[in-house]
Amino acid sequence: MNKFKSFKWLSVLMVAALFVIAGCGNNNNAGNNSAASGGNAAGNAADSAAIAKIKERGKLLVGVKYDTRLFGLKDPASGNVEGFDIDISKAIAKHILGDENAIELKEVTSKTRIPMLNNGEIDMVVATMTITEERKKEVDFSDVYFQAGQSLLVKKGSPITGLESVTKDTKILGSKGATSIKNIKEKVPGVTVLEFDNYQDAFAALKAGQGDALTTDDAILYGMASQDDGYEVVGKPFTDEPYGIAVQKGNTDVVKAINDTLAELKANGEYDAIYTKWIGKAPAK
Ligand code: GLU
Repeated sequence: MNKFKSFKWLSVLMVAALFVIAGCGNNNNAGNNSAASGGNAAGNAADSAAIAKIKERGKLLVGVKYDTRLFGLKDPASGNVEGFDIDISKAIAKHILGDENAIELKEVTSKTRIPMLNNGEIDMVVATMTITEERKKEVDFSDVYFQAGQSLLVKKGSPITGLESVTKDTKILGSKGATSIKNIKEKVPGVTVLEFDNYQDAFAALKAGQGDALTTDDAILYGMASQDDGYEVVGKPFTDEPYGIAVQKGNTDVVKAINDTLAELKANGEYDAIYTKWIGKAPAK
């Protein structure tokens, strides 16, 4: 009887123990499952293939300018690329991958950015790129993250004081693939425009006297003028250039991740801090 009793108790204990172990196991499994499937299921369900690919790779590939002071400029001595667009890119890397340094920057120019995006070399373009209806046929854009306007840069003392003084005989310099080229041709039909591969070359040409004025967005021109006080931005901006971040068509979840990042930056004051750091006083809300 005693034996039986103790056996019974032992059985009870063993069953209880098994229960606990099983329970623990279940809990663990449940934990693991939810972590794994939580990650995977949420991951698979919520992440488009494009986001999943970025996460798998562990870094974000971003096309930025290397020659545009204030937005994306490579310091030849340190090799660092810095500017407004770079800080925005880092914030997106942090949002998607949890680390602002999980990023690889690749140089794009106004002309190469859409082809580089669409052949898969980069995940997104953060490069002073205006949202236009024409470009929307080839890429998808984020919300507007910077508002610029086209203007003119001239040598101080130039007779050109704004768009009104540009005539058919004015020689304008610009960058291939920029909206600025098409815009100036529309504003001043017949005007001569010399197109360069990038803005550094266009500015060098202006300094060498190959043209009368360089045209692109005011914010970019202010960056150039700050490099050389023999040059100034003249007249009022004559177009609207709302900047967007471009992704391959159909990558809606990447667009969402970018827009969420921008909203976060605006809500927590970081957007204004980045703006103030590179451009000056933050824009009025
Ligand atoms: N924002 C204009 C554009 O997207 C001019 C600046 C640039 O060439 O990147 O074309």
